[in-house]
Amino acid sequence: MKKIRDDILKCLCDFADDDEKLIQQLELIIEKQGKQAYPIIFHILTHLDLESDNAEECWYEVVAHREIMGDALGRRVNLRTAICDYFCSINKSLKNPKVVELHVFESKANISKYDYLTGLYTRGSFEGFLVRELARSKRHDKETSVLFFDIDDFKAVNDTFGHLAGDVALKRIAEIVMNETRSEDIAARYGGEEIVIILPETGKAEALIVGERIREKVEQVRIEYLGHSVRLTISGGLASFSIDANEASNLVRCADDALYRAKSYGKNNIVLYSHDKRRYFRLDFNTEIRIRQIGFSDTSELTATCKNISVNGILFESDRLLDIGTKVELHVPINAGSEPFVIIGVVVRIELFDSDHYDIGVSFIEMDRTIKDEISRYLVKQLRRLAHS
Ligand code: GH3
Ligand code: MG
Ligand code: MG
Repeated sequence: MKKIRDDILKCLCDFADDDEKLIQQLELIIEKQGKQAYPIIFHILTHLDLESDNAEECWYEVVAHREIMGDALGRRVNLRTAICDYFCSINKSLKNPKVVELHVFESKANISKYDYLTGLYTRGSFEGFLVRELARSKRHDKETSVLFFDIDDFKAVNDTFGHLAGDVALKRIAEIVMNETRSEDIAARYGGEEIVIILPETGKAEALIVGERIREKVEQVRIEYLGHSVRLTISGGLASFSIDANEASNLVRCADDALYRAKSYGKNNIVLYSHDKRRYFRLDFNTEIRIRQIGFSDTSELTATCKNISVNGILFESDRLLDIGTKVELHVPINAGSEPFVIIGVVVRIELFDSDHYDIGVSFIEMDRTIKDEISRYLVKQLRRLAHS
């Protein structure tokens, strides 16, 4: 998002005197970046917040309006003049437009929009973006995920190498975040050494893959500062709209909650938010299940023995190591004698069980409502049986 914005701003400055070239270049950006470029153009030039479909329509109307004005006046009309007239007289979204030189406006607006140290968005702009993204997700019935990162043991870096080394490290981690996210993702510095990322139209499994990629990159990087080589790790919490929360502040709270657990599990890991554990009791489940990795050319299945199950996930023992974030198709026999249930999940936890066995935790991410009900019924039945034994 920031990259598109920067490209548009550069274009507006470079071709301030040549409208034909400006329109041509803006259309090139639109072609490359798609519909998301339209609202950014209008936001920069008018500060109106338009939906991309609406902004696209306005763009064509403005370009046509400029031609009409040109014909009526008998001279070429500046794109900005056409935009101003269009939004005041035709579309009537602007009542009191104010003429402000772009670079004067930008230098003032940027102070609060971008974090001075990292170049990421500030917490204030992040909050605005999140509200907007969730409104869009609700309207289009799409998922949106939030990743909340905090640098591990950052105080020790400041204490050992000095505050400036800490600043360099923070900048380097922000760079990794920017490189590893898509242009439509929104990364912000939330607090001191906390970074949040909004991943629009992204479900939990995909968001976990992005998060793990960032976590691994940070772990691999050595930050050089005055002859010192500093290594850092980060912990993350992940929550998704609408499974975990419906409102922006709750979604951030859920991601922060998961981050807190990631820290308590020993840091340098990412934890998915899950609701109050008491609602999801786990039950011993000593049953063979079949597992197939999704998205791998190797379609072979593996068989593993389950340890426990809840309505949210399953824990099994395996001699084969799966990567965190791997999407899997599980075949779980819940009721003896009937076909196993097919559930899609994502690997969220791995622990070395003994020297060549792993405990692998999978969170369910896609399953039929009826399967969820069946598992609930099964759990309740077993619980009753335990209570009476
Ligand atoms: P934890 O693993 O539990 O997160 O431990 P931590 O040491 O990172 O603890 P915490 O997150 O509570 O502390 C954050 C520290 O980050 C405190 C502060 O010294 C440092 N910090 C915050 N903002 C900046 C900054 O802009 N520059 C530098 N150099 N340090 C910062
Ligand atoms: Mg920290
Ligand atoms: Mg912190």
